[in-house]
Amino acid sequence: MTSENKTINSIIIVGGGTAGWMTAAALSHHFKDKAVGITLVESSQLGTVGVGEATIPTLRRFYQKLGFTDTEVLKATNATCKLGIEFKDWYKKDTSFIHPFGIYGQGTKDVPFHHYWLKSRQHGDKSDLAQYSLGVQLAQHNKFTFPIEKPQSQLEIFDWALHFDASLFAKLMKEFSLKNKVELIDNKVERVKLSPSNGDIETLCFSDNREISADLFIDCSGFKGLLISEALNVGYHDWSEWLVCDRAIALQTEASDLPITRTISHAQKAGWLWHIPLQHRTGNGHVYSSQYISDDEALDTLQQSIQGKALHQPRQFSFTPGRRKQAWAKNCIAIGLSSGFIEPLESTSIALVETAIEKVILSFQQTRYNQQTIDRFNEVTALEYERVRDFIILHYKVNQREDSPMWQHCREMTLPTELNEKMREFKEHGKIIRYPWEIFGADSWLAIFNGMNYLPNSYDKRVDNMELSYLHDNLAYMKNRVQQAVNSIPSHSDFLKHHCGFKVKN
Ligand SMILES: Cc1cc2nc3c(=O)[nH]c(=O)nc-3n(C[C@H](O)[C@H](O)[C@H](O)COP(=O)(O)OP(=O)(O)OC[C@H]3O[C@@H](n4cnc5c(N)ncnc54)[C@H](O)[C@@H]3O)c2cc1C
Repeated sequence: MTSENKTINSIIIVGGGTAGWMTAAALSHHFKDKAVGITLVESSQLGTVGVGEATIPTLRRFYQKLGFTDTEVLKATNATCKLGIEFKDWYKKDTSFIHPFGIYGQGTKDVPFHHYWLKSRQHGDKSDLAQYSLGVQLAQHNKFTFPIEKPQSQLEIFDWALHFDASLFAKLMKEFSLKNKVELIDNKVERVKLSPSNGDIETLCFSDNREISADLFIDCSGFKGLLISEALNVGYHDWSEWLVCDRAIALQTEASDLPITRTISHAQKAGWLWHIPLQHRTGNGHVYSSQYISDDEALDTLQQSIQGKALHQPRQFSFTPGRRKQAWAKNCIAIGLSSGFIEPLESTSIALVETAIEKVILSFQQTRYNQQTIDRFNEVTALEYERVRDFIILHYKVNQREDSPMWQHCREMTLPTELNEKMREFKEHGKIIRYPWEIFGADSWLAIFNGMNYLPNSYDKRVDNMELSYLHDNLAYMKNRVQQAVNSIPSHSDFLKHHCGFKVKN
């Protein structure tokens, strides 16, 4: 394609999983006043991946832009509130820490809080960084309320996301899209015809010989990448060198009595287990490396870990961690699993769907695009995926587990350059480098560094401007203030009862 502009009057989205219906909802909202027809093709014969129950706070911004309130979505998706992830046994066996959606302590304009805390530690203070985070404390005490809209202090700040039923969320997005005049076709795409002149996708052919065409195609067909991979042959960057987990088994069980406000990620000898509490059930799974454990053993580990009755047969997935070389090729944009998958450790897959949709919307402020639009989209997508990849790699790299070859391999692996640089800078100076297009902020990196006991050798010397006794008093005040806030906040189940009519099981 040259710099010539192409106009879009019609869009076909292939796939009715979480990615497809989120895309349809957001684009039908964006193009509401423009004459762009949107059709979504899904196949009820094929179904969806159907997992993806833990999210990060960006999801809330996504549905709020469409006009949904938190309470509406909590109710409609049987959701619970997620304040972060608890990592059990990741650093070493019998250790645990929480990565919150929030911040730690109150720093100054120039110096982040953790430098003050580091100095205080060097002078005998035994306090844990987690004591300065309202998000962590609420998660530990299983409490929840909506954050204060206009906090008076950084100590009052935390953010939250949802643990939800992904199929109910897709249903909500579907209803919204259909109201916004998205046309739905339930049929299986059998063949994709390309234009002989420029290689663009021209037509999708169904098994009953019907055909449909559009100006722009969005591939939300899941792992197989029906359009972007099978039809357009766009390759894939395989990241198995750093991310060794390539399989998962999922198993839902009956709900626990009192759903907690954090996802549990429990490291195992060849991967990790997840436990995600919803109002009506618990999602469980084992993500593992097929190099280090058999499927049977992985299933056994999962079954041993669950509490409550299983609600279905275990479901098995295999995947290659990585990303599509170009998320946008010709007249086709891949969103969701068709554009890549980094394992679900930090619940980033749906978040990457959101950022992809946001970029599509930014690309189509007018209903035109050209090669520059495509190049920019691909450049940013690549960076977003790589930033998430590096954040996930960090969790594995800094482990000190002695119990299996997988963890040893992860400790010894060579890192991508930018991650290496980020870790070096933190170790030497306590500085957290921020790269463009990172989804996770400095406090998220700090949570993992600290939780995995990867601490800096020195702190910012500007901290020495504060007298030690004043520093100790300040830290004591902060801890106290966080604790007082926790005491004043209701339990998560009371919050759910009040806002969602949640009933505790007998
Ligand atoms: C084990 C596991 C755990 C995960 N956990 C999380 C998590 O906690 N948090 C998170 O954010 N993400 C998670 N994810 C990722 C998340 O599930 C996906 O990002 C999300 O569900 C989007 O999937 P999708 O819509 O791209 O694909 P799918 O759900 O696979 O949907 C594909 C759609 O394409 C349709 N289709 C395919 N072929 C055809 C055809 N020929 N004709 C017509 N239609 C077709 C299918 O019918 C379906 O509707 C997890 C993924 C896995 C595998």
